[in-house]
Amino acid sequence: MDLGLKGKVALVAAASRGLGRAVAQELANEGASLVLCARGVDALDETRKHIEQTARTPVLAVPADLSVAGDIANVFNLGLERFGRIDILVTNAGGPPTGQFETLSRESWEVATRLTLHSVLELTRHVLPGMKERRWGRILNITSIAVKQPVDNLMLSNSLRAAVTGFARTLANEVATWGITVNNIMPGYTRTERLEELARMMAEKEEISLAQYVERWEREIPMRRLGEPHELAALAAFLVSERASYITGNSISVDGGWIRALL
Ligand code: NAD
Repeated sequence: MDLGLKGKVALVAAASRGLGRAVAQELANEGASLVLCARGVDALDETRKHIEQTARTPVLAVPADLSVAGDIANVFNLGLERFGRIDILVTNAGGPPTGQFETLSRESWEVATRLTLHSVLELTRHVLPGMKERRWGRILNITSIAVKQPVDNLMLSNSLRAAVTGFARTLANEVATWGITVNNIMPGYTRTERLEELARMMAEKEEISLAQYVERWEREIPMRRLGEPHELAALAAFLVSERASYITGNSISVDGGWIRALL
C-alpha cells in the first residue's frame, strides 16, 4: 500500500531511542523528511546518521528539552528553516516518574505536567497554523494504555495522559474541516530502554530477577509477550498517512490485547 508519505515533512519528538525512534525510522522508510529532537546530543546524532543512511532521506536533529517551551520553538523554527513546512507532528516524551499520590510532591506534578501535557500543547501550537494554511495535517500523540485502564503506581502518567486525550479529542473537532486529523496511539508494554529500566528497578525492589519481573507483565498480556517498537511504528505510519484521511479523534492501542475493555 502506498501511504503517500513521500515528500511529507514529519516532526517526531523524543526520537533518539525507543518508540519515537522507531516511528521516525518507519516514516523515513516511507519517504518522509524528518525533524527529530531529544535531550541527549550523542544518541540523537547517532539516530540521525542511522536513519539517513538506511532510509536515504534528509533528517534534521535538534537537541531540545521538551519541558522547555523555548527549546520546542527552536526545534520548530529550525525545522521550518530547513524544510519550509511541517506536515506531520508526532508528539512523544520521556515517561513521567512512577509513584502514588501521597509520594508525589507538588513539584513532581509541575515537572510532569510540563513534559507530558505542555509539550504536546506547545508543539501543536507551532505546527497548526501551517497545516491550516495548507489544509492538510496529521497530529499523532503517543500516550499509553493507562488512558483506558490506569496502571498501578503510575499516578502521573494515568492522570496527565488522560488530559492529553481530552485535548486531542477536542482539537480533532476544532480542526477537522481543515483536513487535519488528530489521533493517539496507546502503547502497551513495549520493549524499549525505558521499559527495561523500569523492570530492572521493580525487580530489584522485589528482590526477583529481571526475567521473572518481565514474565509477570507477559502473563497479563493475552499474546504472552512484550510488544516491539516497530509494531507500534507500523500503526503510526498508517495513521499519519494520506490513507487514514477519515480517521480522527481516536485512541488506538497496540498492546497485544492487554486492555480488556470492549470499546
Ligand atoms: P525511552 O525512554 O526508551 O525513550 C524516550 C525518549 O524520550 C528518548 O529519546 C529520550 O531522549 C527522550 N526524552 C526523555 N525526556 C526528554 C525531554 N525532557 N526532552 C526531550 N526528549 C526527552 O521511552 P519509550 O519506552 O520509547 O517511551 C516513550 C513514551 O511512551 C514515554 O512517555 C512512555 O511513558 C510511553 N509509554 C511507553 C510504554 C512502553 O512500554 N515502552 C508503554 C506505555 C507508554
